[in-house]
Amino acid sequence: MTRFFTDATIGVGGKLAISGEDFDHLRVLRPKIGETLELCNSEKRIVYTAEITDMSRADAQVTIVSKKKADAEPGCRITLMQAVPKFDKMELIIQKCVELGVSEIVPVLTNRTQTHPANAAVKAHRWQKISKEAAQQSGRDIIPAITSVLPFREALDSLSQYEHTFVANENETEQYARAAYQRASVQNVAIFIGPEGGFDKSEIKAMRDKGVESVSLGRRILRVETAAITAVILFLCAREEL
Ligand code: SAH
Repeated sequence: MTRFFTDATIGVGGKLAISGEDFDHLRVLRPKIGETLELCNSEKRIVYTAEITDMSRADAQVTIVSKKKADAEPGCRITLMQAVPKFDKMELIIQKCVELGVSEIVPVLTNRTQTHPANAAVKAHRWQKISKEAAQQSGRDIIPAITSVLPFREALDSLSQYEHTFVANENETEQYARAAYQRASVQNVAIFIGPEGGFDKSEIKAMRDKGVESVSLGRRILRVETAAITAVILFLCAREEL
């Protein structure tokens, strides 16, 4: 069932209008009167089932038929520290990683990032919209934030808020991600993924100095987008969330 997000707190029998961008999205699905949809209040963690009772050209009227506790979120918090890749790859990464269950994505500018910082900043609004659509589509209880673009050094300075941090490193030969994730046994992590050219030596050293654990995603070199998705899946598997 398609999910929309709402700030409202309403009782069963209460009415609400879906308008604006959400209505545009709903209209594409060609809904009929009498059909139901879900409305999620992220803050209160409530999911409402609502029936469409009327539709105009500008909005849809819905009536709440039931409500329940929101329970689609994984028990762990994953922040993806993603070096901004070329072209539209960030969009794919955001879409897939939000579907899987990341809590937040931080676009990072590294030495080998080939996207101009200004271009990355311009995309911020679009990236947040992709996160919202992926959250709606996959039935998330929250819309994961895509933060503003951070230079690598600032990303490193923000790491104290995580219980543990990892970097997917294609040159790592000692330790596989899944085993490291299992051993660390933590619930709030940040995972760094490099750009097409990988992290350079100084960045790997700076991460190591900050206690970021280097992990391998296997003996084959993965493309950036495959690496991000794989790193998230492996963490969720290690936490038995997939
Ligand atoms: N150095 C290569 C590939 C970099 S892949 C090149 O020049 O093209 C881009 C990013 O994906 C890496 O920085 C790393 O974070 C991740 N990655 C890809 N394959 C990986 C692997 N086998 N193990 C760990 N990380 C990997």
